[in-house]
Amino acid sequence: MTEPGAITSTRWQLRGARVHGDIDRRCLSIDDSLVTGADDATLPGIELPADWHVVPGFIDAHIHGAMGADVMDASAEALTRIAAYLPAEGTTSFLATTMTGAPAAIEAALRVAGAYDSPPGTAEMLGVHLEGPFVNADKAGAQPAEYITAPDIDRFERWQAVSGQRIRVVTLAPEVPGGDALITHLAASGVRASIGHSACSAARAEAAIAAGASRGTHLFNAMNGLHHREPGAACALLANPAARAEIIADGHHVAPAMVNLAYRTAGATGLMAITDAMRAKGLGDGAYTLGGQPVIVEHGQARLADGTLAGSMLTFDQAFRNLRAYTGCGMAEAIAMTSANAAADLGVADRKGRLAPGYDADCVVLDAAFNVRLTICRGRIAYRGLIEGAGV
Ligand SMILES: [Zn+2]
Repeated sequence: MTEPGAITSTRWQLRGARVHGDIDRRCLSIDDSLVTGADDATLPGIELPADWHVVPGFIDAHIHGAMGADVMDASAEALTRIAAYLPAEGTTSFLATTMTGAPAAIEAALRVAGAYDSPPGTAEMLGVHLEGPFVNADKAGAQPAEYITAPDIDRFERWQAVSGQRIRVVTLAPEVPGGDALITHLAASGVRASIGHSACSAARAEAAIAAGASRGTHLFNAMNGLHHREPGAACALLANPAARAEIIADGHHVAPAMVNLAYRTAGATGLMAITDAMRAKGLGDGAYTLGGQPVIVEHGQARLADGTLAGSMLTFDQAFRNLRAYTGCGMAEAIAMTSANAAADLGVADRKGRLAPGYDADCVVLDAAFNVRLTICRGRIAYRGLIEGAGV
């Protein structure tokens, strides 16, 4: 076997494991930052066990932080700390996600993210997810309620300019005055309007989807659920094929049985795994902050003083394993929910979310128990796990 560290060529292969590409193969060829169709067995390669898997890199469209860093820290160093850590859990690209806060704090975060490019060999920041402040204070969750404001096109456009046009997703509550106008505006400008932190009914959510909202933010959390006489936004997001929904599959934010129900109704193309992780991810239990508020992390759960869940500690590889366990879905469906759907949602389906010639060489090597063993970001080995302990 060739050790991962011994690969010096820009043309090389992963061999032996099952490659979950457009056609099942046992070899994935990489040329610099891209997957190629070349099948030259003389290329240097990493030999992997036959019961391991090569899958498209995970895409996290909703993550606030990790390793002590938060997008709202408004520093390139914080973004790099997140981008450098994420490959350890198989994530190869992400949206830097802001929070409701003082306008100056949001602007500072947007200015930094707008000018940021992930270094080679780290997860690629694809843009920004603006979570708040255009939400409903009645469903604030862990968003600081004092900074919540009504949806405002002018303010959005000012922030979009500050971010260098890199806001890709806006979470908002359609029922707040100005919500519909902002949804229409976002849809017309190619930005995803995402129903979230909202108290709207299923009928109101259907109207928002008709107006151009195309996704939902952390399905079931901070929205009305599936009451049989008063269905909430969750019902519309699950039943309407024009919308996809994020879901936090950590077993705490949504009960496993409800994850399965969501999968059975929305189908594999309708859900996107996210982590919604906060800065404590990767560090463990202790005292932290989120949006300037104290957060206690205990037993892998982050909560405000009043018990409100405040982001997650979920790793993306755990989400992958949980989705499989909660729903019984196959590999193709799990890949859709962890990579391909988000690639389509974020407008990068022409270069991410699939292992096919011409696509970015973003991939994860999972062992037979679906633990991350190797992560490649745009052709560079960004994380290597316990390769030598696995009998290779
Ligand atoms: Zn969030």
